[in-house]
Amino acid sequence: MTARWQSVSFDERMSTVEFRVGERAHIVVDSDVCESCTTRACVTACPANLFAPTSSGGILFNYEECFECGTCYMVCNEEGAITWTYPDGGQGVVFRHG
Ligand code: SF4
Ligand code: SF4
Repeated sequence: MTARWQSVSFDERMSTVEFRVGERAHIVVDSDVCESCTTRACVTACPANLFAPTSSGGILFNYEECFECGTCYMVCNEEGAITWTYPDGGQGVVFRHG
């Protein structure tokens, strides 16, 4: 089972996912706090590549294709940088079947 899943490409996996984008951002990133961050852990840890460093030292973040895995919140060690909640009911990631 594991071997089969590993043979599925990232693009194929993404094609099975539907995102219902809510108007309210369920994750908010305070780019001002990010300016003092030395690890940039979110950039490499987010499986959906939703964090991008800016030339001024901040972070650009897009919540629209978030998997809601919580990894960014777990790896971030700067208080107040990430405010994390689930999307409102009926919004967010939906895995299609078939
Ligand atoms: S979100 Fe957290 S880990 Fe990512 S750059 Fe900001 S402070 Fe650093
Ligand atoms: S919850 Fe997961 S997918 Fe969403 S922004 Fe954080 S690390 Fe990326």
